Amino acid sequence: MKREFNIAVIAGDGIGPEITDAAIRVLKKVGEKYGCKFNFTDVFAGGCAIDKYGEPLPKASVDACLAADSVLLGAVGGPKWDTLPGHLRPERALLGVREAMGLYANIRPARLMPELAAACPLKMASEGVGFDLVIVRELTGGMYYGERGRREGKYGIEAYDTECYGTGEIERIGRVAFEMARGRRRKLTSIDKANVLESSRLWREVMHRLAAEYPDVEYSDMLVDNAAMQLVRDPGQFDVIVTSNMFGDILSDEASQITGSIGMLPSASLGDGKRGLYEPIHGSAPDIAGTGKANPLATILSAAMMLRLSLDMPEAADDVERAVSEAIRAGLRTADIAAGGPSIGCFEMASAVVERI
Ligand code: NAD
Repeated sequence: MKREFNIAVIAGDGIGPEITDAAIRVLKKVGEKYGCKFNFTDVFAGGCAIDKYGEPLPKASVDACLAADSVLLGAVGGPKWDTLPGHLRPERALLGVREAMGLYANIRPARLMPELAAACPLKMASEGVGFDLVIVRELTGGMYYGERGRREGKYGIEAYDTECYGTGEIERIGRVAFEMARGRRRKLTSIDKANVLESSRLWREVMHRLAAEYPDVEYSDMLVDNAAMQLVRDPGQFDVIVTSNMFGDILSDEASQITGSIGMLPSASLGDGKRGLYEPIHGSAPDIAGTGKANPLATILSAAMMLRLSLDMPEAADDVERAVSEAIRAGLRTADIAAGGPSIGCFEMASAVVERI
């Protein structure tokens, strides 16, 4: 078993440095406990790279990510860089890293911890009903990458974007989702708009072919408009959801919001190999940057996903997740999840997790 791991750390902007520092402390503790070593390399990307090198993603940063076993990312962006032209925006760094690393599967768990039910905007939470689901979103295809343009049309200038998916693209994201379901409650819902879109009909055909290969996974299709409703009506019905880039973008934000705690939700982006990019789903929170109030748990839980999905350390991943749950159960809260009650800072919350590993 591998005992030494090289982790590229893109701390980024705003609260990025505080929250990645918290996750690094947790990984160091994991290293001590499990007898392995993590080498961390600081990588510049986003607004801080624009300030230092004049571009959001210098080539050296891409190379460092490609040379690492995995990448841990805080968040990039902030008002300081909001007026720059598109190709110079910090967000370009995210797209650039994902593309360079060939990451086509974005995995976002959304779980309601019973202790945090008060933060959930859904009535069911107050009735003690929880949910624990994962959205597997296709990340490098569909409308965000399809043919686009402007032309003269019947009503003046028209703009168009094209949703296009190939069978190979659908199949590879489908396999990620079926495998993910196998490791959980063995239930997969594929979300599309097959009653209207041809690309969705092909998506559905390929998913059905795959479903025959995974008879142990309970498979179903759902139309995206219904899925948007079902997520707020009864999120407990879902285990793993697989969907296209655009539908996944929208639904994964909806799923994260119903947990009520953006500071708690991790994510992973994966490609064909073991290497992945791990980051919290939230942004750089410029409104609280530098105050020490950021919730580091989403980043710490992203590091746990890294241990499980990229570094073959599932026990250590369980250990970190358990430590986070125990800290919450002990009543420790950062301001975002304290519902107005007493709270601790980013550093203290990380210490509470480290102590419990
Ligand atoms: P945001 O997620 O940064 O913040 C939304 C709200 O949630 C804010 O009130 C913030 O204080 C709070 N919040 C977020 N994370 C928190 C945490 N860990 N602990 C406590 N509170 C937290 O979203 P935004 O304000 O729309 O975006 C701010 C900047 O981040 C923008 O420049 C945006 O482009 C960028 N962004 C980056 C990423 C990324 O790097 N992956 C993702 C989203 C947004």
